[in-house]
Amino acid sequence: MKTVQYDFQERIPVVANTDFLVVGGGPGGFGAAVTAARQGVKTLLVEASGTLGGAAALFEIQPFMPSHKVWRDAQNHFLKAAPLDGPLYPEWIDRMWSYLPGEVRNTVCERNLADLPSRMISKDLAALAIEDICVESAVNLLFHHTLIGVKTDKNRVKYAVFHSKSGFCAIRAKVFCDSTGDGDLAALAGCDFEFGDVEHGLCQPMTLCFKLSHVDKTRIPANFRSTLYEQAKAAGKLHCPRHNVLCMSYYDDDVIHFNTTRVLGKSAINGVELSEAECEGRHQMRELIAWLRADIPGFEQCRLHSMGAHIGIRESRRILGLAYLTRADFVNASKFPDAIARSSYQIDIHSTSGSGTEIVKLKPGQFYEIPYGCIVPRKMKNLLIGARCISADQALHSSSRIMPTVVSIGQAAGMAAALSLEQKRDVQKISGCDVRKRLIIFGAPLGQHVFE
Ligand SMILES: Cc1cc2nc3c(=O)[nH]c(=O)nc-3n(C[C@H](O)[C@H](O)[C@H](O)COP(=O)(O)OP(=O)(O)OC[C@H]3O[C@@H](n4cnc5c(N)ncnc54)[C@H](O)[C@@H]3O)c2cc1C
Repeated sequence: MKTVQYDFQERIPVVANTDFLVVGGGPGGFGAAVTAARQGVKTLLVEASGTLGGAAALFEIQPFMPSHKVWRDAQNHFLKAAPLDGPLYPEWIDRMWSYLPGEVRNTVCERNLADLPSRMISKDLAALAIEDICVESAVNLLFHHTLIGVKTDKNRVKYAVFHSKSGFCAIRAKVFCDSTGDGDLAALAGCDFEFGDVEHGLCQPMTLCFKLSHVDKTRIPANFRSTLYEQAKAAGKLHCPRHNVLCMSYYDDDVIHFNTTRVLGKSAINGVELSEAECEGRHQMRELIAWLRADIPGFEQCRLHSMGAHIGIRESRRILGLAYLTRADFVNASKFPDAIARSSYQIDIHSTSGSGTEIVKLKPGQFYEIPYGCIVPRKMKNLLIGARCISADQALHSSSRIMPTVVSIGQAAGMAAALSLEQKRDVQKISGCDVRKRLIIFGAPLGQHVFE
């Protein structure tokens, strides 16, 4: 590749000095920053975009996927459910719903997180709700700053370097949390990572999500998601590699959410490929809308309600830590004394090379645990992972990446930072069992009582 010599600034301003620096304001960053701040830690959350919420706000992802213990009676009727994530995940939902008028709130939200209506997401309300909770918890916020470098010394991150409209700047902290989703901070600090499937380095496809309004759901034929879609593909009207239409309801009656586009073979950590993926995702969306409006009853008057400001990234780096979870841990529903999060969500691998999705479910009532070592990168003494990019293989990651679990992972990173600062010990030296105990006091359902 042709290169050019460019002289970067040698000295850059240090614009902040904090105890705990969280980079990335998605579900993981939210969990990390709020938990640490509520332990009295001086916390700064820095986000590349102008909003909090990460994938929920920027990628237009919905709904929150379920991760629960569910009890049913002999006729399979729902009795009760205990979410495996808390306290911040339900607090996020409650705050989001508080923005809806009482009438909508009471009819749609049954306050049962096992049911879809309670887990639907408005991207704007999700962003507002997280910002409310951060501000009330005394988290300092800095938007429009993108992490581009780190300065390390003896296996410690000293400064994180950002770029904004003002140019380059540095932020100093005692403990750092990588909540970028892609593991940018850890990779810049030299941490080892895996990427995609180990054989070919291929990641799950990216997806541009969008919603259509003015849809008459009463007239939509049942087979539009399968047979009619396949016919349109065969006729050359659609070029989406997905095998069927993935869509779901939203709390506005005439709106349908589409999770159907599928962009293959692009890397989320390659700038040019990410840009190409955006164009490809929007191209597939345009084709889908044209086909639905022209050929499918009920969609004649449909309008684009909203779309992700950013194509959805399912996976990229996974930062290798002191512990490493695998598919076997999922299948065996592994438990750990230093568990910092739990999940019952399925293995859910969207094909890396074409159509199809591998789904593996746990038996009802089963769940696996994520040990503290999965969020502690092997090399660095003051860096934690509070995002989807934990130390695990691709299969396990496809389960643990859902937003409720990632909030819990973030919570654990925030609590570990607080303990590390209190005890003046490296994050690798604090006890994961102590992190768990403090999370239980914080309200995390990590004790025995959940399944009694
Ligand atoms: C298409 C798709 C469908 C999905 N469906 C669901 C679903 O239905 N339910 C569910 O629960 N989960 C779903 N997920 C998974 C879930 O959305 C993500 O795994 C989860 O949001 C990850 O949270 P995170 O905090 O690690 O990262 P993100 O949500 O990606 O947030 C990362 C944040 O960091 C910021 N950032 C990134 N790099 C930098 C940088 N260098 N400097 C500063 N800031 C930076 C980003 O702007 C972003 O705000 C889906 C994901 C995709 C892509």
